[in-house]
Amino acid sequence: MNMPLLEVTGLKKHFGANTPGSPSVKAVDDVSFSIGEGQTLGLVGESGCGKSTTGRSVLRLIEPSAGSVRFMGKELTILPEGQLRAMRRHMQMVFQDPYASLNPRMTIGEVLEEPLIVHRLDDRATRKRKVAEALDMVGLNPAYAARHPHEFSGGQRQRVGIARAIITRPKLVVADEAVSALDVSIQAQILNLLKELQQELGLTYLFVSHDLAVIRHVSDTIGVMYLGRMVELGTREEIYANPRHPYTQALLSAIPREHPGQQRQRIVLQGSIPNPAAPPTGCHFHPRCPSCMDICKTEAPAAVKVSAGQTVACHLYR
Ligand code: SF4
Repeated sequence: MNMPLLEVTGLKKHFGANTPGSPSVKAVDDVSFSIGEGQTLGLVGESGCGKSTTGRSVLRLIEPSAGSVRFMGKELTILPEGQLRAMRRHMQMVFQDPYASLNPRMTIGEVLEEPLIVHRLDDRATRKRKVAEALDMVGLNPAYAARHPHEFSGGQRQRVGIARAIITRPKLVVADEAVSALDVSIQAQILNLLKELQQELGLTYLFVSHDLAVIRHVSDTIGVMYLGRMVELGTREEIYANPRHPYTQALLSAIPREHPGQQRQRIVLQGSIPNPAAPPTGCHFHPRCPSCMDICKTEAPAAVKVSAGQTVACHLYR
């Protein structure tokens, strides 16, 4: 088997751990996964489950507290700042709010040229050519390079955000709620664009979304997170055909199935996601779980392999 492009092992991000008197929040708690080149891993879960923090920790936009992140054969967590900066051309990010991530005073041409300048990749003429090429690749007229972000619609701005992410020809793109702020019809266009670019450029995606329907559309592998922990991980087919974790089952029951007539019975979860600063003991999901047993209240379940490509952390599968 080929080496994965990205291999994350035991990743942790604890906020407030070094501040006396403030509660430590285990935003990411021992998360592991890998992504093969050209593949997409979708991370899904409710707001506050740690999926965005996982994406940012992988890129070291925030520093992980512990764990290993191997990318292109290098351990990123110990890479000195200079070398990390050089690696950044290979790993880019698409943000949720394209407007907030674009400097309103810069033209789109300047926005797109910036990563090439930062990484000292090309001369001026080549940079201009690459800007025009990137705009064309995301379905925008290259003449738009002279315009400013406020002259674009939300969908067009996200196309600019994607053009900026791909202009350095990265290997890995972390897309953090990349379509959440867009209308449903525009969402589909942007998701299709991301898929086309993946084919064309051989991109690998870590796709973070609270929306399981979006995750289903883009992912080869799916990781389900709850309060900082990975509760289930498997191929798209396995997760959709045979979700094992009660939380995954509840999430899936809320979205329409691809084939009408096969709709699952809706499982309505009680309560909302607990405060991450004071998570429930044992299995964090136990206060909301319809299958909760005594052991669930005291012991955190370890991840176990339930099939060749599927792991689940739940006492039902011990
Ligand atoms: Fe439910 Fe227990 Fe499994 Fe947690 S470990 S999901 S509480 S059955």
